[in-house]
Amino acid sequence: MSNKVPVGVLGATGAVGQKFVTLLENHPWFELTELAASDRSAGKSYEQAAAWRQYKPIPQPLKDKLVKPCEPTLDCRVVFSGLDSSVAGEIEESFARAGYIVLSNSKNHRMDDDVPLLVPEVNPEHLALIEVQRERRGWSGAIVTNPNCSVIGLVMALAPIHRAFGVKRVIVATMQALSGAGYPGPSAIDMLGNVIPFIGGAEEEKVETEPLKIMGALDGDQIRFADCRISAHTNRVFVEDGHMACVSVELERKASPDDVARVLAGFTSLPQELKLPFAPGRPVIVTGERDRPQPRLDRDAGDGMSAVVGRIRECPVFDIRFVVLSHNTIRGAAGAAILNAELMKAQGYF
Ligand code: NAP
Repeated sequence: MSNKVPVGVLGATGAVGQKFVTLLENHPWFELTELAASDRSAGKSYEQAAAWRQYKPIPQPLKDKLVKPCEPTLDCRVVFSGLDSSVAGEIEESFARAGYIVLSNSKNHRMDDDVPLLVPEVNPEHLALIEVQRERRGWSGAIVTNPNCSVIGLVMALAPIHRAFGVKRVIVATMQALSGAGYPGPSAIDMLGNVIPFIGGAEEEKVETEPLKIMGALDGDQIRFADCRISAHTNRVFVEDGHMACVSVELERKASPDDVARVLAGFTSLPQELKLPFAPGRPVIVTGERDRPQPRLDRDAGDGMSAVVGRIRECPVFDIRFVVLSHNTIRGAAGAAILNAELMKAQGYF
């Protein structure tokens, strides 16, 4: 018998759910034993229910597996959630109440005072909020969230800079891939030869607020948000995978582009120390090439778990500017939640 931890995926048929299925195949610690989705899919085989859009085929043992409804009777204690945000809030709560550890991709609980918004390289200590959450809500399980897909690359670059030099103000313009909108996403006719300068679901507000919680300090039973301001423009571009952002930063203490490059390239943290299976060797890869990063060439860096930063240079208005790229469905979604689960397992939460 396998001694891996049995895990389930809620929203297993969706874009993020499919990425979970692909990434969890052959995971050294976790075994995917339960697939759940809406009533439209429940009772069907996974192959019938999922409009499969991954480059690898559905793992053989899961093809005929029956999809279950998202009810907290699944035969596992850990679930990854790729649920649509219109339903994620209540379903995830029902699982946590019933004793499951829920690793959520949805926006619903990210900014709750007692819910960790976790990036293991940046704020592993925020996991302590789980005790606060359990006490306040009377749950035996817990909800732990990962950030919005356009926030993760930004915050992986900003956090080491903030620690070294202090970040005061940030202006960021994103170029976000189509897969970030789920399948089928925006129509080809809307996107071909075009850029849409608006992303619904309060995307800009998420980019402006989530990093402040992630870079915030744990103070007793709460997070003191980082004292900086972010202004975001979010754009949908005709790219399949990989969210890019152009970032200008005002610093508290002056630093040259070389200083910033050194801090980012040398950044390493707890997941690397613990050698977590999904931890990239280098969380931030700095490229010196003048026309990189690019989504097609760089999104798979570190198996899609590294952020790639390039074009670090002086900013004539603020202090420093750069470009950052990260894989939106791996580091920005399923891979992030898997790394969160690995940290929790390594720290004895299950
Ligand atoms: P999606 O492709 O639309 O998938 C949504 C999933 O939710 C499907 O499995 C669907 O099941 C399930 N679902 C819908 N209504 C349900 C209900 N009433 N009860 C149970 N399950 C239900 O969406 P996605 O792009 O994967 O995104 C999923 C979540 O992750 C969203 O909250 C999104 O904001 C977030 N996220 C997405 C990305 C990204 O890059 N795409 C990145 C980070 C975070 P059926 O197939 O049965 O309808």
